[in-house]
Amino acid sequence: MAVTEKTYHDDLAIVREELDKCMKCGNCMAVCPVYGADRIESAVTRSKIAVAEAILDGELELDDPQVYEMLFNCLVCKSCMTACPTKVNFDRIMLALRAALVRKNGLPWLKKAIFSTLKHPKLFDAGLRIGAAMQGLAFKTEESGKAISPRAPFARIGGPIGFDGERQMPSLSITPLRDRVPEIVRAPGSTLKVAFFTGDSLNYFYPDSGKDLIDVLTANNIEVHIPKGQNCCGIPVLVHGDIDTVRKLARSNIDTFEATGCDYLITGCGSCGGAWQHDYVELLATDPVYGPKARDWSKRTYDISTFLTRVIKLREPKGRIEKTVTYHDSCHLKKSMKVFVEPREILKSIPGLTFKEMSAPDACCGSGGSFVLSHYETSAVIGKKKAEDIQRTQADTVSTGCPACMMQLLDNVHRCSGRQDVVHFISLLAESYRKER
Ligand code: SF4
Ligand code: SF4
Repeated sequence: MAVTEKTYHDDLAIVREELDKCMKCGNCMAVCPVYGADRIESAVTRSKIAVAEAILDGELELDDPQVYEMLFNCLVCKSCMTACPTKVNFDRIMLALRAALVRKNGLPWLKKAIFSTLKHPKLFDAGLRIGAAMQGLAFKTEESGKAISPRAPFARIGGPIGFDGERQMPSLSITPLRDRVPEIVRAPGSTLKVAFFTGDSLNYFYPDSGKDLIDVLTANNIEVHIPKGQNCCGIPVLVHGDIDTVRKLARSNIDTFEATGCDYLITGCGSCGGAWQHDYVELLATDPVYGPKARDWSKRTYDISTFLTRVIKLREPKGRIEKTVTYHDSCHLKKSMKVFVEPREILKSIPGLTFKEMSAPDACCGSGGSFVLSHYETSAVIGKKKAEDIQRTQADTVSTGCPACMMQLLDNVHRCSGRQDVVHFISLLAESYRKER
């Protein structure tokens, strides 16, 4: 089907309106985590906006090396948008700039190779399974059994991207989530069926958390569909300007979830949920077939916490959990999906659990997908601040609603000599339900 009009992903000039809203007041300086770490004016939102203006006016080239560095020295965390008095949609500006760069120069070969596997789910899946089988060559399991870290030879060369001897990360699962459960998990007496978009992180790195999410839904008498044909949400390629690939992924995911016939789509990751609620709608806005479908799914997509507390009435947890827990707001969950009250409500409903708030729970953790690899030093400074804030709460557990944040928190808590367990908040609810039994 021919797509006749363009979105800002196809034409940088479309974001001119957003650029014109910026009055260069500098409010964004106080909240931009990258500026907070780098302390250079070029890191601030308003400078990136000035560069976008200069590019549109023909005064700067997109592929100028300094421009390139500025474009990718950004977490696309939306923090600046929360402090902006004129409501500049900076995420659109940044995505439009990166897409324009890819249109001009194409993708660098490494990104092209990695992203092309996403368009072939079986190849991507096979690659991760091989990675899971081979990871013991480069990584060793920590004594806790909860993380892996680079072996000495790998740590010597991996330092610049943060894979030094201190690095801690979750292991790739030998048996991903979607292999552990049937495509339909029935619940006794269910009157509602939902489709679970697992995303790649819950599927490959945190399958236990994904299983906890399914268990919580079935404990609330909800039938859960987990289609095996689902793909990556596409956010990792969208933020690198590969619009062709993310649109293919969006259309494929829409087809897969339409086939389930479910009433709702549930996510356990702010980036995946944000993709379904907002990005697919914007990416496919001018597509006469998929545009209306994307808008329909947007209205039926919920983070697990919102679904449990706003769509159904959460079955009260009764099992005691004697833990002191703090909660980190994932940028995409809070700033894109506007979900921040509901996870706290769930945590506070668990008997025995003591909830402690950080001083800045919604400060970015510094992950930003691949930002943690491409700008490791900046990411580590941002992550250290977060880990110190966690330590001050004296909690023994830090919870969040995003698997990418879990990875970053695991590493940064460890580097700060913290002892906190890092968990998805849904796992604490699942644990409480299990204790009842
Ligand atoms: S806060 Fe908004 S208006 Fe002010 S400089 Fe930053 S982006 Fe521009
Ligand atoms: S999106 Fe985040 S990192 Fe990028 S300019 Fe805005 S606040 Fe800074």
